[in-house]
Amino acid sequence: MKTYKIACIPGDGIGKEVVPAGQAVLEALAASESFKLDFSSFDWGGDYYRAHGKMMPDNGLDALRGMDAILFGSAGDPHIPDHITLWGLRLKICQGFDQYANVRPTRILPGIDGPLKRCKTEDLDWVIVRENSEGEYAGVGGRAHQGHPIEVATDLSVMTRAGVERIMRYAFKLAQSRSRKLLTVVTKSNAQRHAMVMWDEIALEISREFPDVTWDKELVDACTARMVNRPATLDTVVATNLHADILSDLAAALAGSLGIAPTGNIDPERRYPSMFEPIHGSAFDIMGKGLANPVGTFWSCVMLLEHLGEHSAAKRLMTAIEQVTAEPTLHTRDLGGTSTTAQVTDAVCAKFARA
Ligand code: ATP
Ligand code: MG
Repeated sequence: MKTYKIACIPGDGIGKEVVPAGQAVLEALAASESFKLDFSSFDWGGDYYRAHGKMMPDNGLDALRGMDAILFGSAGDPHIPDHITLWGLRLKICQGFDQYANVRPTRILPGIDGPLKRCKTEDLDWVIVRENSEGEYAGVGGRAHQGHPIEVATDLSVMTRAGVERIMRYAFKLAQSRSRKLLTVVTKSNAQRHAMVMWDEIALEISREFPDVTWDKELVDACTARMVNRPATLDTVVATNLHADILSDLAAALAGSLGIAPTGNIDPERRYPSMFEPIHGSAFDIMGKGLANPVGTFWSCVMLLEHLGEHSAAKRLMTAIEQVTAEPTLHTRDLGGTSTTAQVTDAVCAKFARA
């Protein structure tokens, strides 16, 4: 029987609640599948930082290298600066394993009431592809003359031809694999005259490799309005690191809650393990109260299974999640319900017991 090695990194805050929930659901599912899952858990994050002065060990990436996939929770701690929690763990893994495609599906799940009252549930079915390795978050910049009237600070948006080509190709391929074969390339080349212009040029070049994909270009500001006013005109969307960061939070909110949205940090070339995580953060305000919605993590587990090539298991899990969200008594507080993390987790696991 095939065995997949899965690393679990709960991280901080509610990550410590939703990742074990995700593991429980995967274990319940795998019990009736023809593959095994071999989990290893890593206690990296804020507490590890307090004990060791770093978010993860120096040889942490080596411990993950042989894994088939990573299930991640969240990195963030109100008592540790963001640049340490973020760059010291999550981004270290994303960059160390060149997970350059950040894939974020959004749909309104059954039973969930999104804020777009005029929108039919089926009108909102998107996948946002975020460039995950460079752009506005390349970390290039600096400050000088701190505290003086002449102080300057810069953050350079760095785009390389190779980096843009590979994310465009990934997005066109993904659009091609979906039924509508529709791609929107998000840009801001009217105001950013260098990197974004190259981004547009490369989109046009790559589009020639995919004659069956219908594509258009949209300015990022116009795209936010389009997401609200004409959601059905979008399907696959590709955007830079910063633009997609913002668009995908909007997408999650339009789908009903930050707590249900999943994401995959993918190395499409499969040189390294890819990493799957809910898009929400550590949410210390609700930590330890059983209020965390685990659906975003479960949906991330669906993406993890798809990445492993276990499509029928992925489908079974997605169906179980949808059966549970369809039941308002099984909603957590963020969706207006009263269920706990454990109750939602048990309900999803129970679907496999009966299967
Ligand atoms: P970080 O600093 O790590 O980003 P955060 O505290 O900003 O964490 P976010 O994840 O950005 O938290 O979420 C903002 C708010 O949304 C949280 O404070 C929380 O109340 C709510 N929220 C986020 N995720 C969930 C979830 N899974 N279930 C329920 N509520 C959630
Ligand atoms: Mg946050």
